[in-house]
Amino acid sequence: MSSRQHILDTPIEYLKGVGPKRADKLKKELRIFTFGDLLRHYPFRYVDKSNLQKIGYIPANSGAVQLRGRLSNIHLIGEGRGRRLTATLRDETGSIELVWFKGIAYFQRSLQGGQEYLVYGKPNQFRSRLSITHPEMELMKAQETEGPKSYEDRLEPIYSTTEKLKTSGLDSRGIHRLLLALLEKINPKSDITENLPPKIRERYQLAERWQAMKNIHRPENENWIKAARYRLKFEEFFFIQVGLLQTKIRRHRTEGFVFEKITDVFTPFYNEKLPFELTGAQKRVLKEIRRDVLGGFQMNRLVQGDVGSGKTVVALMSMLMAIDNGFQACLMAPTEILAQQHFEGISKMLEGMGLRVSLLTGSIKGKKRRLLLELLAFGEIDILIGTHALIEDPVGFNNLGLAVIDEQHRFGVAQRAKLWKKNTLPPHVLVMTATPIPRTLAMTVYGDLDVSIIDELPPGRKPIKTMHYFESGRLKVFDMMRAEIEKGRQIYIVYPLINESEALSQYKDLMEGYESITRAFPQPQYQVSVVHGQMHTTDKDFEMQRFKEGDTHIMVATTVIEVGVDVPNATFMLIESAERFGLAQLHQLRGRVGRSKHQSYCVLMTGHKLSNEGKVRMETMVDSNDGFKIAEVDMKLRGPGDIEGTQQSGVLNLKIADIIKDQAILARARQAAGEVVEEDPDLKAEQHQTLKRYLEVARQQRSEWSKIS
Ligand code: ADP
Ligand code: MG
Repeated sequence: MSSRQHILDTPIEYLKGVGPKRADKLKKELRIFTFGDLLRHYPFRYVDKSNLQKIGYIPANSGAVQLRGRLSNIHLIGEGRGRRLTATLRDETGSIELVWFKGIAYFQRSLQGGQEYLVYGKPNQFRSRLSITHPEMELMKAQETEGPKSYEDRLEPIYSTTEKLKTSGLDSRGIHRLLLALLEKINPKSDITENLPPKIRERYQLAERWQAMKNIHRPENENWIKAARYRLKFEEFFFIQVGLLQTKIRRHRTEGFVFEKITDVFTPFYNEKLPFELTGAQKRVLKEIRRDVLGGFQMNRLVQGDVGSGKTVVALMSMLMAIDNGFQACLMAPTEILAQQHFEGISKMLEGMGLRVSLLTGSIKGKKRRLLLELLAFGEIDILIGTHALIEDPVGFNNLGLAVIDEQHRFGVAQRAKLWKKNTLPPHVLVMTATPIPRTLAMTVYGDLDVSIIDELPPGRKPIKTMHYFESGRLKVFDMMRAEIEKGRQIYIVYPLINESEALSQYKDLMEGYESITRAFPQPQYQVSVVHGQMHTTDKDFEMQRFKEGDTHIMVATTVIEVGVDVPNATFMLIESAERFGLAQLHQLRGRVGRSKHQSYCVLMTGHKLSNEGKVRMETMVDSNDGFKIAEVDMKLRGPGDIEGTQQSGVLNLKIADIIKDQAILARARQAAGEVVEEDPDLKAEQHQTLKRYLEVARQQRSEWSKIS
C-alpha cells in the first residue's frame, strides 16, 4: 500500500460545511472522525416526498404527516415563556398553524412568507385547530414547485442524529447535506474500493460497493435502495463470519488426541448399562463427537439442546471414549448442587464398571482435597466432576483427554482457555448448553465452535402445561398442588433471587413464603424442604437429597435449582413473582419439571400490576414450550446486547444489519464466508488481499472500541 493517505481517511473538519466546531460535535456525538466514517453513517429510513397529505383531510390523531403548502402570517406572539413564532401553511384544501418555541430568531430570519415549503411533523389538535410544533421545513426550489421531478429529489434518506447536533444545524437534513457534499468531493467509483471478492459478489448478486454507498445516501430509485441495503448488510455479516470461520479452521488445525478404541468401557456401557434407548438426536450428536475425536485435531464442539433433551448422557458417553483410550475426563458444572447431582447420577450409571469417579468442589478442603489431587495426578481417577474449582491451577491431571463444560453460559472465555493448558496437547472440549439462544445469534456468538443440536426430547414426554395466575387465584393453585401430591408427585416453589445486593430482602420473601406454605401444607401430612444460597453446602445437600428420594413433597427454593437439577417425579412448579424473571430464566426454571411420562404443570404467579413487557413474557411462556421460539421473543424484547456472549462477537457494532430482522442475509453471508475460508483459510490468494486488509482494520477498530467502552 502507498503511504499516501486515502481520501476517505481525511479528517471530517476538512469537509465543506463542517469546520472545527461541528467536527467536534460529530466526533463526540456520532463518533464520526473521517470522511469514511461519515459515509458509513447510513440512513435508517427514507421518506417519499411525493407522498403528500392534504391539509384539509388530515385524520384525527394522525401520526407524522408530510405537507406541501404556501407559508404566510409569520408572527411573533406572547411574552416570556409563552413567547413563540407562528406561521400559517395553506394548500388548496385548508390551513394549519406552525409553531416554534425554540430557535425563534433563526426561523424569523430564515422563513420566507409567500414561498412554498415541504413540511414534516406530527399534528396536534387544540380546540378545533390543527397545529404542528417544531416541524421540519424545507423550502421548495423554484423548479420543484410543480412537484419533485427526479427520483433523487423524491426519496429523502433519514439519518439518526442527536439534540446537540440539531442545535448546530445537523438534523437529519443537515447530515444529508454533508453527505451530498462528500459524494461531490470524492469520486465514488474510484475512491470507494470494493472489499468483497469478485466471485462472491457475482455468486450472491451483490451491488458494487461504490454503487451501494452512493445509492444508500442518494438513491436513484426504490430498487436501488433495496440493492444498496442488501449489499451493505451482507458485507457487515460477511466480515464477522470470515473472522469467526478463520478462528474455527485454525482450531481444526490444532493437533489433538485420537480416541480410537471403544471396546473396554464405551461399548459395554452402551450394551449393558444404558437404562434407555438413545434418541435419534442423541445418536447423531454422539456420531459427530466420535468423528471429531478420531480426526487427530482438537475438538471444540457446542452441544445445544433444550432443557431435558438428555445432554448429560451424551457427555458421559463422550467421556467413556476418552477413558477407553487411557485418558482422564472431567465435567465442570456451574453450581455445587449441579456438580453434586452429576456426581451421583454418573456414579450410579457407571456402577459395577470399575471406573473411578470423584467430586471436587470448593467445599472439599484440607486432607481430603490433598488426597484427591494426588490421586488425580497419579491417574487414579478416571472422571473428575466439579465446579470451576476444577480449572484452578493447583489441579493437575495425569492425562486429561476431554473436558466437558455443562451449561457454559456461566463460564467465561478465559476460563475455557485455562483448560487448554491441562495437558501437553489441549484436551478436547465439549460445551453443553440449554441457553435457548436464537439460531442466528448462535451462528455468530458461537461461530468459532462446531455446533451439534439435540432437537428431540426423549419419548413419552408430555408438553408442560403452563398457566398464569394472579395473587387472587392462589387458593385455586394450592388446590391443584394438593391434587398433585395426592397422585404421588412432587412440587417446586421458586422465589426470585435476582441480584446479590437485594439478597437480604429476597431471603426474607423466601422465608415468609416458606412459612405460609407450611401453614397451607401442614405437617405431618405434608413435608416441605427449603434450599437457598445462604445455606451451608451440607444442609443444602441434605435437603436436596430428601427431595430427590421423595421424602419431602415440596421444595421451596431460590433460583439455585435453575440449572440442571433432575428429579423426574417433580411435576408441578410454582414460580412466585414470575414477572421479576427474564424469559430465558423462566424457561430454564420450567425445565425442572416435565421430565417423566406424567403430565407436568407450571404456574406463573404475578401481581396484578404488570408492565406490557411483563405481559408479553407471561403470554410467551403460556403459549410455548420451545426454547428457541422463546429465545427469539426474548431477543426482540431485550435486544441482542443483553444476551451473553454477544459482547465479543461484534454484532453490537453492526451499523446497518439487524441480527433479528436480517437472519436470511446472515445465513447467506455465512455461507459465502465459508466458501472463501474453505478455499483459502489464510487469505493468501491475490483476489483476497483487499478482504484481508479490510478484516485487519476492522479487528483493530474492534479492539480499540473494547478499550474505550
Ligand atoms: P438436559 O439436557 O437438560 O441436561 P438431562 O441430561 O438432565 O437433560 O436429561 C433429562 C432426563 O431425561 C434425565 O432424567 C435423563 O435420565 C433422561 N433421559 C435422557 N436421555 C433419555 C432417553 N433417550 N430416553 C429416556 N430418558 C432419557
Ligand atoms: Mg443438564
